[in-house]
Amino acid sequence: MSARIPEVPSGTEELRLVGGTVIDGTGAAPLGDAEVGISGDRIVYVGPRRTGAPGREVDVRGRWILPGFIDAHVHLVMSTSVDAERQRLWFPEEAVIAAVGNLRATLDAGVTTARDLSGLTPGYRSAIASGAVLGPRLHLAIAMLSPTGGHADPVHANGTLPVWAERGMASGTAVVDTLDDVVRAVRVLVRTGADVIKVCTSGGVSTPNDSPSDTGLPREHVAAIVAEMAGRAGQPVTAHAQSDASVRAAVEGGAASIEHGYDLSADTIALMRERGVVLVPTLSTLLRTPPGPPDPARLARQERGLASISAAVAAGVPVALGTDAGIHEQGRNLTELAHLVRVGLSPLEALRAGTLAGARLLRLDHALGSVEPGKLADLVITDADPLRDIGALADPQRVRGVVQGGRFAKDLDGLDR
Ligand SMILES: [Zn+2]
Repeated sequence: MSARIPEVPSGTEELRLVGGTVIDGTGAAPLGDAEVGISGDRIVYVGPRRTGAPGREVDVRGRWILPGFIDAHVHLVMSTSVDAERQRLWFPEEAVIAAVGNLRATLDAGVTTARDLSGLTPGYRSAIASGAVLGPRLHLAIAMLSPTGGHADPVHANGTLPVWAERGMASGTAVVDTLDDVVRAVRVLVRTGADVIKVCTSGGVSTPNDSPSDTGLPREHVAAIVAEMAGRAGQPVTAHAQSDASVRAAVEGGAASIEHGYDLSADTIALMRERGVVLVPTLSTLLRTPPGPPDPARLARQERGLASISAAVAAGVPVALGTDAGIHEQGRNLTELAHLVRVGLSPLEALRAGTLAGARLLRLDHALGSVEPGKLADLVITDADPLRDIGALADPQRVRGVVQGGRFAKDLDGLDR
C-alpha cells in the first residue's frame, strides 16, 4: 500500500538537535547527551553528540527526543469541547473548522500520525498532505461497517439521527446486512480512498440500538472483506469488538487488529497471540469519568476491561496506542501512555506501543515510528522524563516541540530560530 507521505523538498543545511536524551521508539534504552541530525524531511544521524559537524545546531539539553506518536484510533470530526445540541445548529463550515481545530490539537499533543476510524473524509488527508492544514498524517477508515441496528447504524428508533451522525459519520456505506452489501460497501470505501477497513463485530456503548454484548458482523463477512482486500491494495481490517465472541469472530475472520477487547477469554488471547493480532485497547475512553453521579455499571465495565487488557498484555499480545479521541477529549492523546503502564507495559514498552508498534499496524514502519536514520523526521521534544513520569506527557504543555517531516510544527521554546 502506498504510504501517502508528503514529500518535503530537501534543505541544504542539516538541522542538528544536540544534547538531549533520545528514546528511539524501538524499545532500546535511552541515549543521553545525544544528537539527531535532520536533512530535508529525513533523519540522517542518531547517536552521540558530534563535535564540529556542519549545520545549524539547536541546543536541546534537558529535553527528551521521542518519535512522533501514532494514535491508531481517533474520530477527529467529533468535537468534545462543544455541547452536542449546539453542534446541531452549526453550519457545515463550522463543523469543518472544528475538525481542523481537532487536527491541530492532536498534532500539538505530540501525535504526528493518526488513524481515523470513521468520520474524516480523504479531503482532510489531502489538505494535510498538501500543507494547507496542520495536523497529523492521516490513515482513514472513512466509515465503519455494521448490520442494521448495530454499532454503525446511527438511526434512533424514531428515525432521527444523533449529532455525530449529522457530522458525516453516517456515510451510507456503513450499514450492511448481506454478503453482497458487505462487498459493495468495501469496494465503495476503497474507491473513496480508505486506508483501512473498520468493521464492528460487536455492538457498543454509544449507539442508539445495541450494547457491547450484541453481535455485529459475523466471521464470514470479516473473512470476505479480508479476501476482497487481498486482491486490492491489501488494506488491513480492524474490528471494533467488545465481547469475547466478537473478538473471536474478527480474529478467525482474519482481522489485523482488535479495537477495545474488554472481555477476552484465555483462549481468545492465545489465538490473538498466535496470529499476531494487535490489540488497540483505547483505555482513555474506557476509563473516562463523565460528569454526573457514579454509574455502577460503568465502574464494573471498567474493572472487567482493565482485567481483560492486563491479561492480554501479560500473555504477550502486541499492543498499539489508540484513544478513541472524539469520545475521549481531543488533544489529550498521550493520556493513554500512563494507562498502558497501568495494564502492565513498562514505560519503554508504552512508548513503543505509541510509536513503532503503531507504525507497524499502519504498515508505515518503513518510514515512521522510530528515531532512526532514513526515516521521516517526525519527532516530539519534551521536558518530561518519560521513564520517571510518563503521565506528564498527557499535558500538551509538556510537549515543547513537534517536528513533522523535518519542520517545526510546534515550538514553545523558540528553538527554530
Ligand atoms: Zn472509535
